[in-house]
Order: sequence, then C-alpha cells, then structure tokens
Amino acid sequence: MKVLEGKTALITGASKGIGRAIAQKFADMGANVAFTYLSSVEKGQALENELSQNGAKVKGFRSDASDFKQAEQLVEDVVKEFGKLDILVNNAGITRDGLLMRMTEENWDAVINTNLKSVFNLTKAATKHMMRAKTGSIINITSVVGIKGNAGQANYAASKAGIIGFTKSVALELGSRNIRSNAIAPGFIETEMTGELDAAVVEGWKQAIPLKRAGSGEDIANCAVFLASDQSAYITGQVLQVDGGMLT
Ligand code: NAP
Repeated sequence: MKVLEGKTALITGASKGIGRAIAQKFADMGANVAFTYLSSVEKGQALENELSQNGAKVKGFRSDASDFKQAEQLVEDVVKEFGKLDILVNNAGITRDGLLMRMTEENWDAVINTNLKSVFNLTKAATKHMMRAKTGSIINITSVVGIKGNAGQANYAASKAGIIGFTKSVALELGSRNIRSNAIAPGFIETEMTGELDAAVVEGWKQAIPLKRAGSGEDIANCAVFLASDQSAYITGQVLQVDGGMLT
C-alpha cells in the first residue's frame, strides 16, 4: 500500500521547484492532490494534466497565499471538491534580497506577507476542517536561513524564523486534536529560486556542504512524504533540516 493512499493534500506554490516535486511525490504515494500557483498559470495547468494521467485526483487552483480571503476561499473550494483535507504543505515563498541599508519597505512587506502571513492564512483556514476530522498534518517549508540568518536576507530570514515559531505554537495548541505541525528547513536546493545565483559562488557552497552537492526538490519531497504520512504519527513541533549537513 502507498503511504498516502486515501489522504487529501493541499500544497501552496507547486507550479515549480520544491512545491512541484512535493505534488509529484504525493501523487506517486497515492494522495489526492490540490495545489496552488499564482503567476505561472501554464505551468500549473501542465502539472494538473501530468499528475491526473497517473490516476490520482488532482486539481490546481490559482490563488494568492498571502491574501487572507483568497486563502479562506481556497480551503473551502478544496474541501468542497475533495470532501476533506488531511495534509497542508505551506511551501509558497519568494526572495527579495538586499542589504538592510538598501532594503525597501515594499521588499520587506512582500516577503513577510508571501512567506509568513500565508502560513497563518492557510493554517487557520485548514485547521477548522482538521479539528472537525480530529486529524491533520501541517508541514511548513522554512529554511536553514531561518535558523542561522543570512547577510542580505534579513526579510527572508525573519519570515522563515517566524515560520518556526508558528509551527511550534500550532503543535502545542492543536496536539490534543491530533493535528501535527512540523517544519522542513531545506539547505541549498537547486530550483528557479536559486538558479539566478553566480555559478562560482554556487560551486563554493557545494564544496562547503558535507554531502558535497546541492539538494533536489525530490530530497525535500521525500521528507514531506514522511511528515505527511502516519509513519510520523508521533512527531510534532519539529524542524527537520534537509541540508546535506550544511549547518552541522
Ligand atoms: P520557486 O522555484 O521560486 O517556486 C516558488 C513557488 O511559490 C512557485 O510555485 C510560485 O508560484 C509560488 N508562489 C510565490 N508567491 C506565491 C503566492 N503569493 N501565492 C501562491 N504561490 C506563490 O522556489 P523554490 O526554490 O521551489 O522554493 C519553495 C519554498 O522552499 C519557498 O518557501 C522557499 O523559501 C523554500 N526554500 C527554498 C530553498 C532553495 O534552496 N530553493 C531553500 C530553503 C527554503 P508562481 O510561479 O505560480 O507565482
């Protein structure tokens, strides 16, 4: 039996990168998959077509995770379409890097709203249904940068550190309802988000990683499958680093 058979998952920001890899892996593992995208409409529709061909129930929704009302409506639409919601993966995220001296208020707000407020929006809406069902697994994608900090990413690091505090608080609040809340902290993962970085800099980073390579979306997706499945039934409030040993 596939470990996510019979479960329904909602993944934000799955038109590409890590979210896309999670959607693909969840469908492979037997889950019914709802996912979102925002600007990459064609990619979102292509993913829906791709995954539907494997027999899973799959639907993509165009929805802005940073918008409270859109998030509420999204969860209502998903529950209406799929009948329930067992797993929420808060993955949508952006970067607007710059040193603090040059960071604009717009770039601060955009990153905090997309990366952190979105997690509040979706979790609040989803847990309403999970509490009724007395089961749920919430997986928030943070970053090693939220643990360590990073020069030039004060906004991003703050959003990702905020996710960790939020994840643990939800675990404490909702454990008694059998709702688990965990975070994954990826290290350096090769996606479009990291694709624009200078090749020489990237090579230097890889050499500093104990496993001597960048991670893939699949590396993160494998961890997400574990946290989504009943195999992690006694794990909540944790941050799992998937970083090739980068912070060790
Ligand atoms: P990516 O390739 O740039 O993909 C980001 C995804 O988020 C896209 O599908 C994008 O959808 C979606 N998105 C952005 N804003 C959104 C919004 N307001 N509402 C809904 N969806 C939105 O990035 P990635 O590298 O896969 O990163 C995914 C997550 O992992 C992020 O939270 C990121 O911070 C985290 N992470 C990444 C790394 C890394 O090394 N790549 C490391 C640590 C953590 P559209 O394109 O359709 O707008």
